[in-house]
Amino acid sequence: MSELVTARIRATAGKLGLPHLAEALAGHLDRADGAKMGYLDFLDLILEEELAVREERRLHHALRASKMPHHKTVDDYDFSYQPELDPRKIKDLAALAFVEGKANAALLGPPGVGKTHLAVALAVAACRAGYSVYFTTLDDMVRQLKAADAIGRLATKLRTYLRPHVLVLDEVGYLPLARDEANLVFQTISKRYEKGAIVLTSNKAFSEWGSVFGDEVLATAILDRLLHHCEVIAINGPSYRLKNRLAAVGTAVKTATA
Ligand code: ADP
Ligand code: MG
Repeated sequence: MSELVTARIRATAGKLGLPHLAEALAGHLDRADGAKMGYLDFLDLILEEELAVREERRLHHALRASKMPHHKTVDDYDFSYQPELDPRKIKDLAALAFVEGKANAALLGPPGVGKTHLAVALAVAACRAGYSVYFTTLDDMVRQLKAADAIGRLATKLRTYLRPHVLVLDEVGYLPLARDEANLVFQTISKRYEKGAIVLTSNKAFSEWGSVFGDEVLATAILDRLLHHCEVIAINGPSYRLKNRLAAVGTAVKTATA
């Protein structure tokens, strides 16, 4: 193929927003030559690859924008360590019908059982499926909203938490909230109600939310909206963080008593 035509294809691909095609053209031509590809297969190859590259790029940006602390998946989770947790429940959630239905998922349990891991895993699955995701701890969200409110920009800041298809609210209930703070949480939850999915994690049972939010009535109003459409997963096993340490302690004890 003449230099002139390849140069023109590169330029046109660039204008069409297909930078990968512009870069990979020589490689594509070699492959097509090597495989004695027909026109149809060649076009198919180019379009498929362009789509895959674009999808990879989209996912990369979406994951970065989500502010997730890591990108662990359901496959990275060792269900054998939490025998009371039914893997089917998590796999059902990972099929994302709840996201489509603008419903919620709550992961409850003590520290180290993998609540954040699984919340992230669901959010990563949502990202892959093309949904937008935003990850925050509850305390950080409250801090951000308070700061915005103080300078008259609450409505703008709220959009950060209202716009994404999936909002991950991590660590609900770690610190008790003041009344004005609890009110900001109520505003966020009630505005997302039936409009967008929430995945939350908490080390507190719902019955303790009154003391977390400093007000039974407000806590009930929050829970009312949150739980109307919500899959609740309780994980009540041992902490994975202590797994190796406990095993080490066990060995030490055995050695000492042997
Ligand atoms: P939590 O949010 O419940 O306190 P995390 O999700 O932060 O717990 O889990 C603590 C660490 O242990 C993370 O690195 C997480 O990936 C890992 N982890 C927890 N449970 C499991 C598990 N069952 N299989 C694999 N890794 C796990
Ligand atoms: Mg956590």
